[in-house]
Amino acid sequence: MDVLAPLYQYLFRWVIAPVSEQFLGLFDLNGRLCIAFLFTSYAVAYGLFRVRRSRGLTDARSFWQFIGGNRVHLHPSALLDYRYYFVRAILRVVLVVPIVGLVDPYVLRSGDYMRFFTHLWGARVQVEEHLALTLAYGLGVFLVQDFIHYWAHRAYHSRYLWAFHKVHHSAPVLVPVTASRVHFIEKMIERLIDIVFLSAFAGLFWYACGGEISRYTLFGVTYVVFILNALAANLRHSHVWLSFGPVVEHVLNSPAQHQIHHSDAPRHFNKNFGINLSLWDWMFGTLYVTQSQPEAIRFGTGEADHERYLTVYSLIVTPFVETARKLRKTRRPPSIISTIEKGNTAPLNLWERACSRRRRHIQH
Ligand SMILES: [Zn+2]
Ligand SMILES: [Zn+2]
Repeated sequence: MDVLAPLYQYLFRWVIAPVSEQFLGLFDLNGRLCIAFLFTSYAVAYGLFRVRRSRGLTDARSFWQFIGGNRVHLHPSALLDYRYYFVRAILRVVLVVPIVGLVDPYVLRSGDYMRFFTHLWGARVQVEEHLALTLAYGLGVFLVQDFIHYWAHRAYHSRYLWAFHKVHHSAPVLVPVTASRVHFIEKMIERLIDIVFLSAFAGLFWYACGGEISRYTLFGVTYVVFILNALAANLRHSHVWLSFGPVVEHVLNSPAQHQIHHSDAPRHFNKNFGINLSLWDWMFGTLYVTQSQPEAIRFGTGEADHERYLTVYSLIVTPFVETARKLRKTRRPPSIISTIEKGNTAPLNLWERACSRRRRHIQH
């Protein structure tokens, strides 16, 4: 028994605890995948189903069929997403948290920024905390985070980070859990930039107010995030087409706009990088607005990739292999690169090759 005790402790710390925590996350309002938000999203989808059926705009005979049925929810890619959701929890405990922890002492925190500004411009009189101030602070946190995530998302689509972000895009079917199909390197970068930019913003805001201000929250969640998650955010990773219309979509990112981002059609490439707001896409020229009429879209990065990303192991390891291959190619003299590429049957960007293939309708 004594021999098994350390083994149990090891398993509990690195496997059982993170997996059960991830399962409990389904009831946590801080996450988009919370049961309550899934319910509101599918309630909206049901409303859409009733409207489209009454107008003869869908062939789906049941709501299950309307949201994709077994074809989507039991697809090998979806089954992989369900498994990866729990594996990701283990990766977070084993890799993300320790590595972010290593960097953490070298990152300036809000207190450091407050001291810096006080040293620079002198101390300020503390203002009294009131509703407008907590609302403004909460809105500021949301805007800063959404803005930096927009630019981080654009960076993930660049040459050397794409291999890691492709893990998310390689899914040929979208289910709400696909939102968690994110490589741990991407998650790590996201955690670090969150710490850096949100600490700087909090430091500046608190300095201006002369002291700490709390965020206005709904059930312990930043209120803007709570409202947006409640507004069918889970339909972004689904086969239900929900457009907010061209006007609203200049500001708010609709589920249909994110589905466009997952499309393998060249006309949709590098569009709609926004997470919650599409305002950034509008401001920086990457906006693509949708209409209420569903577009013909095929999700993913091409059939070759669908076959390469079929296991949890491939989701974790393939990006490293691809990046190493790219780095090796970059180091070779140009003459050799061109010879190899001419004779190479697998083009550098498989997504582009996939896009030349015939597209089929997957929307109802
Ligand atoms: Zn992307
Ligand atoms: Zn996505």
